[in-house]
Amino acid sequence: MSTVPAIRVRGLVKRFGDVEVLSGIDLDAPRGEVTCLIGPSGSGKSTLLRCIALLEEATDGFIEIDGEPLGFGLGPNGERMRLPQASVRQVRAKIGMVFQQFNLWPHMTALGNVAEALVTVHGMPRAAANAKAMAELDKVGLAARAEHYPSELSGGQQQRVAIARALALEPRIMLFDEPTSSLDPELTGEVLSVMRGLADSGMTMLVVTHEIGFAASVASKIVFLDHGKLLVEGAPGTVFGKPRHPRIEQFLDTYL
Ligand code: ADP
Ligand code: MG
Repeated sequence: MSTVPAIRVRGLVKRFGDVEVLSGIDLDAPRGEVTCLIGPSGSGKSTLLRCIALLEEATDGFIEIDGEPLGFGLGPNGERMRLPQASVRQVRAKIGMVFQQFNLWPHMTALGNVAEALVTVHGMPRAAANAKAMAELDKVGLAARAEHYPSELSGGQQQRVAIARALALEPRIMLFDEPTSSLDPELTGEVLSVMRGLADSGMTMLVVTHEIGFAASVASKIVFLDHGKLLVEGAPGTVFGKPRHPRIEQFLDTYL
């Protein structure tokens, strides 16, 4: 197995107008492992994830996804460098993303939600897409809910459908942006348990979460972002163990 990180970020800068949201991020996410990204609200966690998923274009810096290099910034004549479309497509195909809001299509069943992109994006015949979607729903424990609409599912079940939908496209890397933050506490466990299973299966995951227990037990690496800078990184035992960085201490006081 290659030791090249699945995600390598160097000097990443993101500005919205005059506001610098990411100020030169260096980050490696090891292959086959879980990296948890933590930090206060507004520190830039979602922006970093969105830049990695190419939902936002970084202002400057470098990202390498599963061996596919992407450079951002200005060319020799001050013009913005264009990303090669083939690389963008490659990177998008490698990444699955799950958001705080599940973003399921309300007019489609759970099965329809999972099968849709297989048909429309991958051109899979409907019957094959439905079979694949059923297998993915089964993996997240929802085969029995396949014909239910989102409004007939709990928040935890909807998020598990969203995870199945992402996994159906067979990504190499999964990004999660606060996947349990909009769930009632009693529904958080079922989603974390699906994520734990995915981690055990060897999926490379980068997870933004305030679930410190999950992060401490599942991640091989914790990254703490503060005001657009990567302030602390290391194994959970180092980051959460004592003595702690004062900002980590403050963060844990707020979120635990
Ligand atoms: P986090 O996910 O850590 O809470 P975000 O990445 O969502 O932080 O936001 C970081 C900062 O960037 C915030 O100050 C936010 O207001 C700002 N920001 C995020 N998206 C945009 C945008 N599209 N335009 C302008 N500012 C933005
Ligand atoms: Mg966020």
